[in-house]
Amino acid sequence: MTNYKPTRKLVLLLCAVCLLAACSPPQEEIPTPTPSITPTATATATLTPTPVPSPTPTPLPLDGKQTQYRIDATINYYNRFISVTSQSIFTNKTNVPIDEMVFIVYPTIFQSIFMRSVKLGDGTPVDDYRWEGHHMVIPLETPLQPGEQITITHDFELYMPDRTGVFGQTGRQLLLSYWYPTIPPFDEQQGWLAYDVSLVNSMFVGEHQVFESADYDVTIKFTDRAENMVIAAGAMPVFEDDSYRISLPLGRTFVLAISDSYKIITREVDGVQIRGFSLPEVVESSEVAVDLAEKALRLYSELFGPYERDVLSVVQADMGINMEFDGLILIQSSFYWLYRDPPRSDLHIIVPHEVLHQWFFSLVGNNQAMEPWLDEAIATYAEALFYERYFPEDLEWWWDTRVHAHLPAGSIDTSIYIAGGVPEYFNRAYRRGALFYRDLREAIGDEIFFSFLLDYAQSHRYKIATGEGFFNTLNQHTNADYSTVIEEYFTNPPGAP
Ligand SMILES: [Zn+2]
Repeated sequence: MTNYKPTRKLVLLLCAVCLLAACSPPQEEIPTPTPSITPTATATATLTPTPVPSPTPTPLPLDGKQTQYRIDATINYYNRFISVTSQSIFTNKTNVPIDEMVFIVYPTIFQSIFMRSVKLGDGTPVDDYRWEGHHMVIPLETPLQPGEQITITHDFELYMPDRTGVFGQTGRQLLLSYWYPTIPPFDEQQGWLAYDVSLVNSMFVGEHQVFESADYDVTIKFTDRAENMVIAAGAMPVFEDDSYRISLPLGRTFVLAISDSYKIITREVDGVQIRGFSLPEVVESSEVAVDLAEKALRLYSELFGPYERDVLSVVQADMGINMEFDGLILIQSSFYWLYRDPPRSDLHIIVPHEVLHQWFFSLVGNNQAMEPWLDEAIATYAEALFYERYFPEDLEWWWDTRVHAHLPAGSIDTSIYIAGGVPEYFNRAYRRGALFYRDLREAIGDEIFFSFLLDYAQSHRYKIATGEGFFNTLNQHTNADYSTVIEEYFTNPPGAP
């Protein structure tokens, strides 16, 4: 997520004082990743023919046991009413029995859901569930043993709240994020990774949900005027019979933005379709957003490995924040309406940030409540990498505007439960986070820095990364002493030197 309002006066002031010497090498110095194949056999005898090395079979992500969500939704767009049946098929992927299932039911936060029924796979009604905040807890008569599967079906109605935000409607669009009951990851030591929202001064601080990769098969039907509706999703909607079907394999989230007014711009980039969605009045800004998404996609694919989806939707959204989802990013509407001064524009800063989350959030997950720096620090630093590659003359402006102007202080390994709320959270996880990456790169050198990041991304695909995994991977790449960097930016770093 990003919440960003530039302060132009301060920017002008700071631009006059160059706080930093340029630390950016020419773009050619960023090494291009090469795929590595581990041979299973090595030749030992010289007289025998050399065995042909065969790649080690790659295990399926989550051993192929990811949760399956099958969702059927009927949308009455103009009445802002949605009727949903959501079936969740969950496998116990741990070595311990599970006594109760937990679902995160986000729409309860806005009191905009009516749960018609909850049933087991064989149709048995579940009547003894209880609510703990916005979590639905279902006790299991017989614990779910390791490897066992359970199916639970929720039948519910959504009354979309009249609000700007990732879940709501504003008259010209419907934003459906976290709209179905989701199963959080289950950890053998900690249990369900289900957290409360962090609310300080009436603002949500960060994101509190932790997502496992899951398979989505979603069918959308409109009660009327289907021909008016445009659907933005993380995958391509396919019209079959009287409804749209959207499949997203191994998605962290499944989000829809729907409007009867969207104009779509499409662009093909190396087999990926970038789809820009905006209101017709700001279609020129949408062109810019799509162009920036293309540039970001090219750069980050080079640095962190290929983008593994065939669609990336870039959506103008009626919100005061920006948000990443799997295969889809929501960019706040005002950035389209007030677009100016490229490349010193909000779109230039934020579109790359949210595109970066396709690697660190979607592909490589993390505990967003307890270790938000794992995706937000790199997402913020990736903005600098974007300027370094495409607009090097404006890189110093970026550091001044985005980081130094806010005088950030504090350690970056904070949770979202932070007394100072949103401003302190951004200063630490994002801005100090970007400075951490800058200093780490300086300490270990460009070549090791970028080969580490590529390895970290690829070795944690479809997993939930931790700070410990981050530092373990880093230590495999370098013997350099970067302890002063750790002391500067971390309070309690597990696995760090
Ligand atoms: Zn972010």
